[in-house]
Amino acid sequence: MSYRKIELRTERSGYCSACGKWCKRKAYFWATREHFRRGKGLATEAEIEKDLARKSGWWHSRPLFHLKCEPVEP
Ligand SMILES: [Zn+2]
Repeated sequence: MSYRKIELRTERSGYCSACGKWCKRKAYFWATREHFRRGKGLATEAEIEKDLARKSGWWHSRPLFHLKCEPVEP
């Protein structure tokens, strides 16, 4: 059984959607094969990498905020 951690680091920069100042953020996504059980065995590493890329794409598609400027959930 593999416990290898699959990681994806990404960063972006732009103007903060809240305060308008320049902002640079980093994100880190990771998973192990054990996180991806789907009833028929473990996902392949390629499937996990695809999922991490999807999460990274989602993060990049969201408005950019400083950590302190992130809207608080009601
Ligand atoms: Zn800001």
